[in-house]
Amino acid sequence: MRLRNIPGSREVIAENRWCIPETEPTKGNWHSIFGNDHPIHIEIGMGKGQFILSLARQNPHINYVGIEKYSSVLLRGLQKIEEEPLENIRFIRMDAENICEMFDRDEVARIYLNFSDPWPKDRHAKRRLTSRQFLSLYQNILQSDGVVEFKTDNVDLFDFSLEEVKEAGWRLVAFTRDLHHDETMNQGNIMTEYEERFSAKGNPIHKLIAAR
Ligand code: SAM
Repeated sequence: MRLRNIPGSREVIAENRWCIPETEPTKGNWHSIFGNDHPIHIEIGMGKGQFILSLARQNPHINYVGIEKYSSVLLRGLQKIEEEPLENIRFIRMDAENICEMFDRDEVARIYLNFSDPWPKDRHAKRRLTSRQFLSLYQNILQSDGVVEFKTDNVDLFDFSLEEVKEAGWRLVAFTRDLHHDETMNQGNIMTEYEERFSAKGNPIHKLIAAR
């Protein structure tokens, strides 16, 4: 999701109280940032934030951190939180490749990846957010019982992700190739913006849950 550059979006983000600057020493400090010791769940590539904002609204005893690479996209999430303030959510504008700078070992209980960019060329496989390279970053910050939950409609990316989970020595906890018709895995499912768009076109939604 790449919206056109919105002039001034970086400045708006810098001044927003829900947005943590990438330069802030957050590593190991998340419980004091939130002022409680509730578990921390993060979404990488949150887009405009529909999914993570719904989760935060439903689960006041979980702290959520939404990560998004582009200011112009993140801005939409910030506009929504201004309209409906929630205390259990923060955002960071950053590239996920720097995630270990922002979270300490065992600091994160769950990572959500939704409709991540497919990077279809083989030479770009490392950039896919479910690549073994990214899984090894997640391993550094996830608690020992932590999980990654990944949804996509992209069959090639999903097949690649299943392979990478295996190659990285992670455990596949559950998966489905048709989430919306899988009674168990679809329970409590919150649709993302892309999920709404692609399922409306008839594309089956794939989901996997992997544990380190
Ligand atoms: N998750 C949302 C959804 O399901 O509706 C948005 C999906 S969109 C296809 C992927 C999002 O991930 C984009 O907003 C993109 O900017 C962001 N993204 C891609 N690579 C990223 C990275 N390395 N770090 C942080 N965000 C990233």
